Amino acid sequence: MLKCSTVGHLIELLDLTSSLKRQIQAEIGEDQTPTLLGQLWALPLKHSHAVTRLGSYACRGENPLAIRLQFAQEDTPLRQTFLHEIAHFLDHQTRQDRRSYHNPHGPSWQRWLTVIAGDTKNTESLAMRTLYAQKLKPVARCLKCGFLLYRLRSLPKGRHWLHRQCGGRLERLC
Ligand SMILES: [Zn+2]
Ligand SMILES: [Zn+2]
Repeated sequence: MLKCSTVGHLIELLDLTSSLKRQIQAEIGEDQTPTLLGQLWALPLKHSHAVTRLGSYACRGENPLAIRLQFAQEDTPLRQTFLHEIAHFLDHQTRQDRRSYHNPHGPSWQRWLTVIAGDTKNTESLAMRTLYAQKLKPVARCLKCGFLLYRLRSLPKGRHWLHRQCGGRLERLC
């Protein structure tokens, strides 16, 4: 996963290829799908070391530039953040006016998030959940493997915390 340099590569590693193709095609039709998918697959994937954000979608004018992801997070939030950012790409690139990307978490983004995140029936609660995931902050770092623990609040002081996966000690960051 750490070697992925394009969005398409991570889509394949996460085994999202066929579901994404099917969902996007159902939404915009067969004619436009190949171009949009080609663009999405080739989009650079950057490894963000910014600990304050889990991910972001970067564009300039009508051109998509990259998706940035903080990889030092657990699988489920990583996947959710990735889909959150892909929904931004799809929302931006299918708008009538792509020259500037306003209201990035509006109804058209929510719609795309529902389309690609699949089986959920409630658009708004799904959007709220991924926005919530984006507000998490890194509260501790594992001294052994570098894993960052994201939560809304700091870990309580006065006791030691261990990283369950590797047994390393967690150092509080805030
Ligand atoms: Zn967003
Ligand atoms: Zn660890």
